[in-house]
Amino acid sequence: MSRNLVARVATRLMETTASTVAAVNEQVLAELVEDLDIDAAFLRHNDHKVRVSKLVAFWPPRRDGSVPDWLTVAHFSSADPILSLCENGKKLTVVRPEPSEPTYARWVAGAQERWGLDAAKIPSPSAAAAPLISGGVTTGQLICMKFRRKKWRTDELNVIQTVASLLAQLQARITAEEKLRNLAEHDDLTGLHNRRALIAHLSERLAPGRPGPVPVLYLDLDRLKSINDYLGHTAGDWFIRTFAEQLRLKAGAKSLTARLGGDEFVVVPDRSMSIETAQKTGEELCTALRDRMTLGGHMITRTVSVGVAVGMPGRDTTSDVLHRADEAVLSAKRAGGNSAAVSSDDMSLQRLFRNDIELHLSGEIDNDALLLHYLPEVDLWTGAIVATEALVRWRHPTWGLLLPESFIGVAESANLGGDLGKWVMRKAIAEFSRWRSRGVGQNITLRLNVSPGQLISRGFVSSVAETIDEFGIDGGSICLEITERAVVRDIDTTRKTLEALKEVGVQIAIDDFGTGYAVLSHLKSLPVDTLKIDTSFVRDLGTSSRDLAIVRAIIGLAEAFDLQLVAEGVETPAAALTLMRHGCHRAQGYLLSRPLPGNAMESLLSSRWMPMPFLADSQALTSSTI
Ligand code: C2E
Ligand code: MG
Ligand code: MG
Repeated sequence: MSRNLVARVATRLMETTASTVAAVNEQVLAELVEDLDIDAAFLRHNDHKVRVSKLVAFWPPRRDGSVPDWLTVAHFSSADPILSLCENGKKLTVVRPEPSEPTYARWVAGAQERWGLDAAKIPSPSAAAAPLISGGVTTGQLICMKFRRKKWRTDELNVIQTVASLLAQLQARITAEEKLRNLAEHDDLTGLHNRRALIAHLSERLAPGRPGPVPVLYLDLDRLKSINDYLGHTAGDWFIRTFAEQLRLKAGAKSLTARLGGDEFVVVPDRSMSIETAQKTGEELCTALRDRMTLGGHMITRTVSVGVAVGMPGRDTTSDVLHRADEAVLSAKRAGGNSAAVSSDDMSLQRLFRNDIELHLSGEIDNDALLLHYLPEVDLWTGAIVATEALVRWRHPTWGLLLPESFIGVAESANLGGDLGKWVMRKAIAEFSRWRSRGVGQNITLRLNVSPGQLISRGFVSSVAETIDEFGIDGGSICLEITERAVVRDIDTTRKTLEALKEVGVQIAIDDFGTGYAVLSHLKSLPVDTLKIDTSFVRDLGTSSRDLAIVRAIIGLAEAFDLQLVAEGVETPAAALTLMRHGCHRAQGYLLSRPLPGNAMESLLSSRWMPMPFLADSQALTSSTI
């Protein structure tokens, strides 16, 4: 059997690539567990730079299906005897801890937690740990475990050792391939992506069926030529590198940032946006990148011109969009630089787009083209899902999947906001009530966005009351989200409407809080339950002290007014940890989950908890996981 196993593993590893390696590692462990009749197998990789061992695969999966251990990190400096073997060990070692050793208790606890074994049934575990060695360096370990005493036969130990060396070769090959790929996709001078990577990314984003419009911001540094001419190329290179660093920071880690050569850069934000939002983003970037600096003893002002275009998946090609953005940057330059301009094609396109949307939308509200996705909201301390927000999408016949930003405004200006809002409310509450009838989501809140026009439209309150009645949902588990903009548009009508809504029993949240100061003065007099801190203050938490100051102020405000607080747009562990540290416990964002289709949301709700692997990672757990 064993020789067979080695041959099977070797063949499988030959075909493995970076994208399949995770699944293959797991399959190999599964085969080891089966063939050697052992209880569990683990694959760990070493990171010698920071002296940690990381769990990369394990078998069998945890009973509750959770995966936090994937990221579990153990520091070599912890006193664990096995871990110290792992760091530089070169030989296969069999470990049989005695009940008096700390390692023993940890193994028993681990086995109980993961597989629900009875402690009494784990009399004395035994493990064989084979090092992964590549180029004379210990790069990881393959650990095979039996939850009782086991006499390992030589042929079994040979198999483990051979599989470990095959896995080490695989790891070395994948690392080398990744390095090469990285070199081929990055620009030498700045480390940003290069043209090839940009084109690959844009082609993928513009493929039919992907969400659009896809924004492209083309940046061109003003006056690089004169810096090169007067101060020399070394100064010019420094100038470009400094700019690239700033650009990477301001564009955010999720955007693709590329240098096309010379002083030309392109940013592709990760979200779809309308041309107006793309223009706003371009203008913000242009302002954020303006800077004064000394270079070769001269004080210079760095400015940049930005050209903005958007591409529609399935219709525009990569070169179309880049060409339009390039034309737009030229027009910004012709106007004196230091500004953002939108491609005129996109402007006329936008008019077309609006007309088309207006034309189609009234028909679409009644058929199946609109759909809802749901964004979970999580208690960061416990991982419990506490709410879900319904977000509308439109599967447009020619433009593909549209995000609300590209059609809500049009719907409002065409007086269709009310119909759209009613559709969303009925659809979401109906789905919510279906989940509940199947015993799911009993303790969570359903959040619904209400547009400014919808909020002050006649009959709004009664339609809310009728819908929750019709589906037998208690008002308290529905929360209507209104933006600050909507609140101040017509404060008296808003106040009356909100008071009437409170009588119906629903909760009220102020969405995108912090973006419109005007609401502060009204906070006291409005019957509001929750503030949702706008994404723009949350995204860079952990690195931006200005954003932290704002968020702390909002937290203070919420405490003073006794309001619930939710952070939107949590994208990084640093942001999540900062929020937790300062007292904001509820959050939503891509770090936790992307918006999900209804059925995926239902199954997430049925598990009730979200895995929060980033918390384990950030604590750099000092305990071994074996
Ligand atoms: P919102 O109510 O503030 O909803 C959150 C938006 O942020 C969603 O975008 C969501 O996908 C996005 N988001 C969540 N986590 C992250 C993150 O970590 N990073 C980033 N960059 N974005 C994140 P979506 O679905 O495109 O909705 C945009 C806005 O459209 C919503 O903002 C809401 O104001 C409006 N909207 C959505 N559905 C409806 C609706 O049914 N009716 C009305 N009137 N407006 C809606
Ligand atoms: Mg919202
Ligand atoms: Mg928001």
